[in-house]
Amino acid sequence: MMEQVRYLIEMQEIMSQAKRLEDEKRRVPLEVADLKSLFDEREAAYLAADQEFEELKKQRREKEREIEEERDKVEKAKAKLMSIKTNKEYYAMLKEIEGTRRTNSTREEELLSLLSKYEESEKRLSERKAELDEVTGKYRERMVEIDGRMGSFDQDIAKILDRKRQVASSLDAALVRRFEMIFERREGLAIIAARNYCCTGCHMNISPQLYNMLQRDDKILTCPNCNRILYYEPPEEKAAGE
Ligand SMILES: [Zn+2]
Repeated sequence: MMEQVRYLIEMQEIMSQAKRLEDEKRRVPLEVADLKSLFDEREAAYLAADQEFEELKKQRREKEREIEEERDKVEKAKAKLMSIKTNKEYYAMLKEIEGTRRTNSTREEELLSLLSKYEESEKRLSERKAELDEVTGKYRERMVEIDGRMGSFDQDIAKILDRKRQVASSLDAALVRRFEMIFERREGLAIIAARNYCCTGCHMNISPQLYNMLQRDDKILTCPNCNRILYYEPPEEKAAGE
């Protein structure tokens, strides 16, 4: 095989590696953005649940305090009953005690319904917390990996491009430019085998004349259909007996 062709094949491998790394490097920030938006979403859901829970906690404390105060009032009124002299005053006091008890019984009903909301909210909060923790762990882990990866991308790409320069220095500059152009336009395949009178890049037939020239292996030749650089590859050996 011609030396130039060998260099071009090597260059194609090097450029494919560089392209893979560059694609990966482009994808990484998108992955980070997706992860970040999932994290933000879960965090917002958690904060909303937390706010709701704190509000119910406050309402519960207020209600419990009110009930406690009213109970105190009843106890104090009962103690006072002993020192009352007239029946009129006595019945007035009893009536007042009864009124306070009734109000408090309504408050206790309210407290019960508040407590059930409170428990639901507490459960919701712990669910949101678990969901947030799950993504937080993943997010941190992945960010550490990504940071490490992003740091090595540029180094790896620089190393590869260095090798490419070395290979390119053995080739004619115009050929390198042409090769790079085909590489861009033909999905990273700029040099490709011709086998069985066929271009393995675009699968079009190759004329016998061109095929003969390829077999001579003394000139850079391209496929007339896809413009890729071709090199001759002997037909696959047929099994014995065929
Ligand atoms: Zn072709």
